[in-house]
Amino acid sequence: MASGLGVRARFTMMYGVALVMTIMLLCGGIYFFIQRALMGQVENHLHKDLATIQEYLKHDRAGLVKVADHGPILLFRVQTGTEPLISSDDWKAEKLEGIVADQGGEQGPYSVQAGTGRPYRVLTGTAMIGSDRYRINVAHSEEAVRQTRKTLAVILLLTLPVAVAVSLAIGYFLAGRVLAPISVITRKAEEITAENLSERLPISDSDDEFNRLATVFNQAFARIEDSFYRLKRFTADASHEMRTPLAAIRSIGETALHASNNQGDCREAIGSILEENDRLRQMIDSLLVLSRADSNQVELIRETVDLGELVRESVDLLNILAEEKHQSIRLAADLPVIVTVDRAMVRQALINLLDNAIKYSPPESHITLTVGRTNSDDAYVSIADNGIGIPEPDLQRIFDRFYRVDKGRSRETGGAGLGLAIAKWAVECNNGRIEAHSTANEGSEFRIIFQQQA
Ligand code: ADP
Repeated sequence: MASGLGVRARFTMMYGVALVMTIMLLCGGIYFFIQRALMGQVENHLHKDLATIQEYLKHDRAGLVKVADHGPILLFRVQTGTEPLISSDDWKAEKLEGIVADQGGEQGPYSVQAGTGRPYRVLTGTAMIGSDRYRINVAHSEEAVRQTRKTLAVILLLTLPVAVAVSLAIGYFLAGRVLAPISVITRKAEEITAENLSERLPISDSDDEFNRLATVFNQAFARIEDSFYRLKRFTADASHEMRTPLAAIRSIGETALHASNNQGDCREAIGSILEENDRLRQMIDSLLVLSRADSNQVELIRETVDLGELVRESVDLLNILAEEKHQSIRLAADLPVIVTVDRAMVRQALINLLDNAIKYSPPESHITLTVGRTNSDDAYVSIADNGIGIPEPDLQRIFDRFYRVDKGRSRETGGAGLGLAIAKWAVECNNGRIEAHSTANEGSEFRIIFQQQA
């Protein structure tokens, strides 16, 4: 089947082929059965004539002579041996003598063409009267049958192309109507671009295949729209966040340029530039982690790890920051809590959470880390502080990228709002989850939970 044709044309073609075959079969059937029926009538006639002649031979031979001259049986011949005894006038007139065999037993019915050129159906029978054996031929014209057959063939041959043409036109029209929703879907889908991703394909009330197709497309559009929107927001947020330290570097540099050549001022400016640079580097590192996370490029290296030991390592690393603020970190990890995770990723999550606890708690406060197992034997690490806490409405959003409760204050402490997003991703990659509980101005508790492994 030509693949260049549209579905509508292909559908109509297939339907046309099936239709022509069906109509031809039907016409063939009609033609065959009508011709059988007509011929059957002729043959019945022949059998009746033969029986009548046999009766005449037995009981009324003189009567048979009259019949030969005046009917009602018009075409017959009676022989004894090969000699004709009686031949009807019409038999002779139609020149059937010599055409129909004058020897042999019962035969037929079969068709012959008489000497006059007309077609006849002939039946041959016998009759035994006393010791005499008679051979009887009866004939009946096939002309009416042939004529009817011809007329029927003409009717069928004329109606066949008309019926096919009309049916194909109807088929083409119906295929067009059935496929119309596809055109609507195609036109609408073509219109949907990055600029109007929120538009959707039309859905009607019926529960047909096209509606299901449009629904599936709409779901795909919704997913694309969501990813597209998130990507756009992420790019916008990232650019915005980077502009701040860059602007700061520029303004520090400009101030230093126009200020006195005092070495102390220059050193201070360079120190500030390095600080901003560091902030920028940290942000770019975080963005790289998240972009790798998004593209699923991270390969986990799972190993059995004691969570207590991992927490201790993080505390050792960040203790200096807590000491600067005279904060005390308490660690309660009495029993080994073994989990199978990617060590570096979980360590990163712990560092981010502990760093937040230090950042968002006042000097001389306490931070408590607890490692243990829940009642359902899940491994957990709790990081609790008595810091500024998080208001209830913000609690839902703190894991979003670039989300910060208090942008001004957070920037002072160096955060871009990516730490919790990275921590969440790192924990979830290791089949864990993070829960956050907090009360504004009282403190927060973040819990990393790893389900018990089978
Ligand atoms: P940041 O780098 O700004 O700290 P995070 O993603 O780590 O970004 O945290 C997002 C926001 O959640 C922070 O800006 C802060 O407002 C809030 N937050 C996180 N941890 C704490 C905490 N322990 N106490 C109070 N607020 C917190």
